[in-house]
Amino acid sequence: MAEYDYDIGIIGGGAGGLTVAAGAAQLGAKTLLIEKEKELGGDCLHFGCVPSKTLIKSAHVYHLMKNAERFGLPKIDVPPVEFGNVSNRVKAVIRTIQHHDSVERFCGLGAQVEFGHPNFTDEHAIRLNGKNYTAKSWVIASGSSAFIPPIKGLNRTPYITNREIFYLDHLPKSMIVLGAGPIGIEMAQAFNRFGTAVTVVAKGPQILSKDDQDLADAVMETQSSEGVKFYLNHSIEAVNDLGNERKITIKHKDGSTVSLKAETLLVALGRVANVEGLGLETIGVEHDQRGIKVDNRMRTNHKHIYAVGDVNGGFQFTHAAGYEGGIVVSNAIFRIPRKADYTYLPWCTFTDPPLGNIGMNETMAGKGRRRLYGLDRRIQRQ
Ligand SMILES: Cc1cc2nc3c(=O)[nH]c(=O)nc-3n(C[C@H](O)[C@H](O)[C@H](O)COP(=O)(O)OP(=O)(O)OC[C@H]3O[C@@H](n4cnc5c(N)ncnc54)[C@H](O)[C@@H]3O)c2cc1C
Repeated sequence: MAEYDYDIGIIGGGAGGLTVAAGAAQLGAKTLLIEKEKELGGDCLHFGCVPSKTLIKSAHVYHLMKNAERFGLPKIDVPPVEFGNVSNRVKAVIRTIQHHDSVERFCGLGAQVEFGHPNFTDEHAIRLNGKNYTAKSWVIASGSSAFIPPIKGLNRTPYITNREIFYLDHLPKSMIVLGAGPIGIEMAQAFNRFGTAVTVVAKGPQILSKDDQDLADAVMETQSSEGVKFYLNHSIEAVNDLGNERKITIKHKDGSTVSLKAETLLVALGRVANVEGLGLETIGVEHDQRGIKVDNRMRTNHKHIYAVGDVNGGFQFTHAAGYEGGIVVSNAIFRIPRKADYTYLPWCTFTDPPLGNIGMNETMAGKGRRRLYGLDRRIQRQ
């Protein structure tokens, strides 16, 4: 029997990877966790859920203060937002949670943590910082990044994504949000409430296209009444850098064009799986731009290599990544075959009003849930 350095090796220290690492290490498996950033925690902690929900809370409180009279309370003259204070609060909340996702905690659980950019050299081995590491099973949990489409002029124009928006040094006077998915729509409302003039551009006929139209429309109506401008059914033709401002040209599906200008451009046009540089081609792990192909036990086409969380292109939520991590612990460590079942998966879009879902909504039932979420390929290989 082949001897390996580790029972399980995990690439990516975010929601999915940390769940596997904690579970495997506590069960006594020899566990290696590899992260490319300086700290553990992944997108959720540093560039996703935690900073976005913290920012949204501040924007919500500010909005209530400005509208106190509507609740029978004394009218308050609320001064403008000191954005530095909001940013400091976001950083403080991240620091508090970082403690739970610290290297010390995971080493204490029994895992070995290494930092760097690993790449597979064969089906059981990776190379990292000039050393080879072998494991019986591997878990790829490298997450996703903002999709940057090939829009004319975009590569010559400063823009931000979810990696920068929570670390801005001042409140932009104006912002164009490209994309009307959950990230774009949550940020549109929060920044608009802080005082940024926000415009949202989307190609489709409704915002939050995975939600039922009547609910998405209710969210849009609220945001419109608060001052957010929407351009639906518009494709982005070109982007220009004007120095202090960015200009975008958008085209309605009837052929008419409009130019918009703003200080800041937020690109929130979907996500791509982080598969670059892992050496997946070397060992033949099947993947496309949406993600690594897995069956419902989270196994790739190499049965001892698993892929969990955003990188497999399924449901892109923190709790989904954690759930899939648990499936891997069961299959790879306990050796108890366990399949993922998303029938009652809940999720929420943290707008005001918020949108909550459990399981299939009307849109999913109409379009076919599997097709909508790209899960058909996962089901095929059951
Ligand atoms: C703005 C925003 C708001 C969000 N809000 C919510 C929300 O409210 N609720 C919710 O459920 N979900 C939310 N999400 C989604 C959630 O953040 C992701 O679904 C979740 O983080 C996925 O976990 P993961 O483990 O797959 O990936 P991640 O948490 O991103 O972890 C992947 C880790 O792998 C590391 N990595 C990448 N490549 C390599 C490599 N080559 N080598 C080593 N390490 C690597 C990364 O640095 C990262 O630490 C939000 C996302 C964004 C962007």
